[in-house]
Amino acid sequence: MPDQQVKKTSCQYCSNMCGVLVHVEDGKVVRIEGNREHPLSRGFVCERTRIAPKWLYHPDQLMYPLKRVGQRGEGKWQRVSWDDALGEIGQRLLKLKQEYGPETLGFFEGTWRGNDYWPRGRFATLFGNPHNIFAPGVICGINDMAINMAVMGDVTTYAVDTPRSNCVVYWGADPSESSLRNWAAVRRIQRDRGVKVIVVDPRQTKTADIADIWLRIRPGTDTALALGWLNVIINEGLYDKEFVEQWTVGFDRLKGRVQEYPPEKVAEITGCPAGQIEAAARMYATSGPSSMPYGVAIDQLGLNGTRTEQCKIIMRAICGYLGVSGGHLITRPGQPVNGGKFVTEAELTRMDLLPMEARRKQMGFDVCRLVSLKGWSLMSEHLERVYGVPAPVTVQIQAHTTMLWRSILTGKPYPVKALIGWGSNPLAWAGNVKLVYEALKSNNLDLHVVQELFMTPSAQLADYVLPAASWMERDLCTNMMDFGSLVQAGEKAVPPLGERRDVYEFFRGLALAVGQEEHWPWKTLEEVSEHRLKPTGISFREAVDRCVLFPDTFDMQPWKQTGFPTPSGKVELYSSILEYLDY
Ligand code: SF4
Repeated sequence: MPDQQVKKTSCQYCSNMCGVLVHVEDGKVVRIEGNREHPLSRGFVCERTRIAPKWLYHPDQLMYPLKRVGQRGEGKWQRVSWDDALGEIGQRLLKLKQEYGPETLGFFEGTWRGNDYWPRGRFATLFGNPHNIFAPGVICGINDMAINMAVMGDVTTYAVDTPRSNCVVYWGADPSESSLRNWAAVRRIQRDRGVKVIVVDPRQTKTADIADIWLRIRPGTDTALALGWLNVIINEGLYDKEFVEQWTVGFDRLKGRVQEYPPEKVAEITGCPAGQIEAAARMYATSGPSSMPYGVAIDQLGLNGTRTEQCKIIMRAICGYLGVSGGHLITRPGQPVNGGKFVTEAELTRMDLLPMEARRKQMGFDVCRLVSLKGWSLMSEHLERVYGVPAPVTVQIQAHTTMLWRSILTGKPYPVKALIGWGSNPLAWAGNVKLVYEALKSNNLDLHVVQELFMTPSAQLADYVLPAASWMERDLCTNMMDFGSLVQAGEKAVPPLGERRDVYEFFRGLALAVGQEEHWPWKTLEEVSEHRLKPTGISFREAVDRCVLFPDTFDMQPWKQTGFPTPSGKVELYSSILEYLDY
């Protein structure tokens, strides 16, 4: 009889983090099924889990640390030990820091899920680095988060109560391709109770095919459309007057501005018929509770994207869809779980140790002002006042990616001489691939370290390639990057294959190699998880068993007690932060 085990964790192929049971036979993952007892996903899994075992044991998965011995990109590697690799990397980092300052280091990363971001943040802070972090987040949600934080403090984009909505708006989102759990939910509620669906998308997607109203918008004209909706909603008095009066500032200025966008004019700009624009705005405002799940398309619009997101937040707020069942939930970090507070990623990142003088050196501090540490430093005091814990910071800030590549090539505004990449392949995601390639090939770059699952095109240009443990090979204990207080836990299904290491071990190893020992007392991810859970009195094993730990209470409308985490304590329809940052 083979040795059979079932391990509980969450799939981390995408941010849905569905609860799964991983079946292991004789130490090998053989099958994955949805965990019906998982309180969030209730057994749902998509097709990706079916191929997970094949993916995990694919012969191209990296197993050992490699050091470049030929020219960059030549494909000549020598197998080395972790100790040798980390020792050499640490020495080179210290030398570069001494010569060029701690800002000479850049990190590029991707969207590995789980509890992986804060170790990078802690390492950066203790190194004195101004969080020169470069990631595809700038085309996938960072702007949206930042604009939420500026306008209303709380980020409500991800906690959307679609299953209880009466109307769902997919604006630049196609869940049939990118969010299968949400897609399953909307198909079910459409069949069971005829939920209304509005789609704003230039493409005829599967989601557009099931819509009651499909606004086939001219690409890039979303802000005009949003202002047109607001024109209808405000002029026809379809908003929540009590909420607007008590909990917003700037309504009169908003009202004046939307007069410039009557439906007929918006129809000319967007290519959508005026009658359809009016019907959609009325449907959204009057069939509520309505929700607008997150879609990355708006973050990819460029300048217009910021204003579209601002309008969407304003719509949710003035129509009364914040903090209601079927609308957008307010989830905050720092809420007690079993009487104690789970230690947040921001607490572990220790931004308090990075003075303003150091933060100002972040690449793009004065350029991408909202998503850089400039904007975050303005907003953080209000978040901390309301949350009672350090402001979320792990994926909420970014440096300026294009400036990074140019700084490597030109040395301006200062030379970036070292890069650490993990779970990221900028040759695939960053704009201007030729520039990225030139920078990664450049002799100006003294050190390029990558931790990866596979030998990606970007990894092929590295000096060291270190093997990473996948989600099936690492423990999980996370509050989802501080977006709330709910904790998800899971155990590794199998020990890391070959010599793979999880991200925590990777950054801890680097930290020890540059003299940060005293700040990294926890040897493994499990030890860190115990540390983070300690105030709750719940052990990591118990957390795994329960899959999800909920906060003790959930106040649907917490602003009534605390105000919103903005300078005025209200939703700022005219944002003082955006004004200060000169947007
Ligand atoms: S939707 Fe699919 S890929 Fe995403 S977490 Fe769930 S099972 Fe994994």
